[in-house]
Amino acid sequence: MSFPGMPTIIYDVICDGCGQSFHETRPGYDPKQPAKGYNFRMKQPWRGYGWSSFPENEDSVYGALECPGCGTLYGNGSGFPKIKARETVAIVPNEIFQAAHVTGEIKRKGGRPRKGEVNG
Ligand SMILES: [Zn+2]
Repeated sequence: MSFPGMPTIIYDVICDGCGQSFHETRPGYDPKQPAKGYNFRMKQPWRGYGWSSFPENEDSVYGALECPGCGTLYGNGSGFPKIKARETVAIVPNEIFQAAHVTGEIKRKGGRPRKGEVNG
């Protein structure tokens, strides 16, 4: 499990097919466990371009984790993609929130409450 302040390594996910790195791992990813969709985050600039990929949630498992560039399965469909450590960061609560938000576990409107919206 991850908790605020815990050091975590962010890995670049390397495609066996094209050698590109379109995804990175999310804070809290454990390379010893088979990866699921929620362990991945599409990197910029592709995320900004709106590239489609497997859903970044728990429904995406081994055989669904494919490179959005060439379609090769990450880690030959084993659930253990080729990864390269990039940086170590401390997990902050906001990152846990974002991870949950992207996987659809939390639904929340962005931004501050507007005038007149507080306490109904
Ligand atoms: Zn590829």
